[in-house]
Amino acid sequence: MAIVLQGGAVLTVNAADQFLPAADIRIDGTSIAAIGAAGTLAHSGDRVIDASEALVTPGLINVHTHAATAFFRGLADDRPRAFWAGYAVPGQESFTLEHYKTSVRAACAEFLLNGVTCIADRLGDMHHIAPVIEQTGIRAIVGHTITDNRGPADWTTVERLIERYGTDPEARVSAGIAPHALDTCSDALLKNCARRAERTGARVFIHVAQSEPEVAAVRARGHDGALACLVGTGLATSNTLAAHALYLSDAELDAWPDYGIPIAHCPASNLKIEARTLPLARLAGRVPIGLGTDWTVTNNSMDLLAEARLAALIGKMKADDPTVLDVRQMVRMLTIDGARALGIDRLTGSIEPGKRADLAVFDLRRLETAPAHDLASNLIYSLSPRSVRDVLVDGELLVRDGRLEREDEAMLSRTNRRLGSSR
Ligand SMILES: [Zn+2]
Repeated sequence: MAIVLQGGAVLTVNAADQFLPAADIRIDGTSIAAIGAAGTLAHSGDRVIDASEALVTPGLINVHTHAATAFFRGLADDRPRAFWAGYAVPGQESFTLEHYKTSVRAACAEFLLNGVTCIADRLGDMHHIAPVIEQTGIRAIVGHTITDNRGPADWTTVERLIERYGTDPEARVSAGIAPHALDTCSDALLKNCARRAERTGARVFIHVAQSEPEVAAVRARGHDGALACLVGTGLATSNTLAAHALYLSDAELDAWPDYGIPIAHCPASNLKIEARTLPLARLAGRVPIGLGTDWTVTNNSMDLLAEARLAALIGKMKADDPTVLDVRQMVRMLTIDGARALGIDRLTGSIEPGKRADLAVFDLRRLETAPAHDLASNLIYSLSPRSVRDVLVDGELLVRDGRLEREDEAMLSRTNRRLGSSR
C-alpha cells in the first residue's frame, strides 16, 4: 500500500533548495515515487496522511552517536578537560550488556521522536548492539570501535559486523570501520584501517583532534599534528568521517579542504567537555559537514535541532560575523550535507523522487512554528522535538502523531530508570 503525505509544506533540500508551499509526496515501498501538487497523487487504496498543517523535511541525519551509552546521561557534568582523557565515566564498569541493549533501544526511539532518521553509531560490542538498532527501524551505519593501545585490535568483531551487515549503505543498516581516535590507535592500526576500508568499501569513522593530549600523542609519534597523522596513515580522504576536529592549527584548517575529509561537528558535546568548538564557518561549504549529538554523558541531549541552532550561533561568534552559517546552510547540514558526510547522499538527505522515504513531519499547529514567513528559519531557530509529528524511514511510519509505532515510550523510559537505579 502506498502512503501519500498530502498537502504539506515541503522543504525539499534538493540542489535548487526548492520550497513547495503545498505538495503531495507519494511513497511506494521504501522510496519516494512522486512529488506533485496538493491533492493530485492519492489513488484509492492508498494510505493518505493529511499534512496540510504540517512541514515535511528530509529526515534529520545525526552523523556521530554512541546510542548504547544513553545510560550515561547525567553521570559526569562540569568536569575539567583532563577528566575526559581516559575516555571513561565513573561507574561505567558496572554496566552490563543488558544496560547497553536497553540504552540503544531507548536512544533510537528518542532519535526517531526527535525527527532523526539516520545515525552513524559506534561503540564496542557492536555485534550485540547493531541487531537492536536494526529492530528499531532507524537507518544506521554502525561501527565496532577498535583500539590497540591496551591490546591488539579486535578485527574479528569488525569482520563479523561487515559480514553480517555489509558495507553497502543501500541496506538500512550497514557497517563501517571505526578506529577510536588518533591517540588510542597506532599508525600501523590506522594504516590497516585505510587498507581494509579500500578493500571492503567501508567508510572510516574516527575521533580526530578532540583533545590536546591526543594531539600531543600524535606529535610524539613524529607527526606535525592531527591532519599530518591522517595524511601519513592514508586516512586523509573523502572516505573518512572525522569527528570533532577541535584542535587544528590555522595551517591545518587551511589545508583541510585539500583532502576533502568530511567532519562530524558536535558543538554541544565539544563545548561541554572542552569549552571549545571547530571554527565551523572556516570549513562549512568546503568539505561535507554533518551534525552529531555524540554520547549522552557529554551532551546530554539527543536533540539534533538544538545542535543546529548551537552550531549556527557559536559558529557566528567564532567567525565574529553574524552573516555566516545562514539558515539554508544549516538546514543542509542537518540533512543532505549530513548524508554527504556519510556517503549516502544518493539515497537520503533530500526529498526527491527515487530517494528513500526518510522524512520528518513537523506539526504546524504548534505555536513555535508560526508565523510561517520562512519555515526553514523556524526549523533552525524555533522548532524543537516537541513539533515532530510523524517520522518515516525507508517508507515505514515509525512515529505517528508524536508517538512511537513500534515501542511504548513510557515503558522504555521506565525500564531505563529502573536499570539505572539498580546499577
Ligand atoms: Zn564520539
